[in-house]
Amino acid sequence: AKKIQKSNYQFYNSQLDREVEQRIEREAELVKGLKHGQFEPYFQAIVNAKSFTLEKLEMLARWQTQDKLKGPHEFIGIAEEAGLMNKVTLQLLEKAMTSLVRWITTSVNLQLSVNLTAEQLLDEGFLDDFESLLERYQISPKNIELEITETSLIANLDQMRQSLEVLQDKGFSIAIDDFGTGYSSLTYLKYLKFNTLKIDKKFVDDLNYESEEDDLAVVIINMAKSLGVSTVAEGVEYCEQAKRLADAGCSQLQGYCFAKPMPIDAIGNMVELGTVM
Ligand code: C2E
Ligand code: CA
Ligand code: CA
Ligand code: CA
Repeated sequence: AKKIQKSNYQFYNSQLDREVEQRIEREAELVKGLKHGQFEPYFQAIVNAKSFTLEKLEMLARWQTQDKLKGPHEFIGIAEEAGLMNKVTLQLLEKAMTSLVRWITTSVNLQLSVNLTAEQLLDEGFLDDFESLLERYQISPKNIELEITETSLIANLDQMRQSLEVLQDKGFSIAIDDFGTGYSSLTYLKYLKFNTLKIDKKFVDDLNYESEEDDLAVVIINMAKSLGVSTVAEGVEYCEQAKRLADAGCSQLQGYCFAKPMPIDAIGNMVELGTVM
């Protein structure tokens, strides 16, 4: 028995070593990717629900490695763990700025929606870097919306409340992302100041066309109206979803029905047209 225990221990140990090794390797790759400027911003249109005119662009991270394009699920977690998320976000923003300047001259009210982690929203050093970048390109915070997921907001409620207020005083808009997935009490909604609720795709998928009642997406839209904030429905893939949401008074729509996330060059044409359809 002793012998087995020993070999089990050794197995466990080498398994652990391998995991640590793999993590270090993945982090090193990420550092290299950053150094070579491989993080690319993609952009997805967010349109007015009634007119389908372009109102916002959500910036979504991609990692263009030598052999493939990686999506955020393949690296955001590792980047956060390794403390590299600020560098990733700043690299994306840096690449977006020149184009954003041009886009805003065509469309003065256009907003760039930027996904931030909870940690970033509370990191004054990062926020300073972000603001300096905007100043350098003379972009007003009015043209920026910060997206923060519901779950990360409520994990740090008091600090978040303060940070959101400071940012809004500077002119930034705040959107609560993936709303409805956190299964949290709604009382925090009154406690926090924000501008937009992003209704998670799950509620758009669940729209029921037979009955007029019980659609949670519609309940959320009405609740947002009573709070005086706007709504974006995410993951709108079908025209019938778009119609239903627009009829219910949803402010803006986002999803493959209108446009997929696109690289910087492709999105330029859309901004010039000012509409996706
Ligand atoms: P998210 O913020 O909820 O972004 C929306 C995701 O849904 C995007 O996936 C987008 O490509 C996808 N999507 C949009 N429309 C549709 C649709 O009609 N159907 C379907 N099935 N999917 C749709 P993506 O780009 O893979 O990003 C995944 C998540 O990664 C994002 O979810 C966001 O939470 C995170 N993420 C992306 N970029 C960044 C970033 O720069 N910083 C941070 N902190 N998180 C990021
Ligand atoms: Ca988002
Ligand atoms: Ca979302
Ligand atoms: Ca989501």
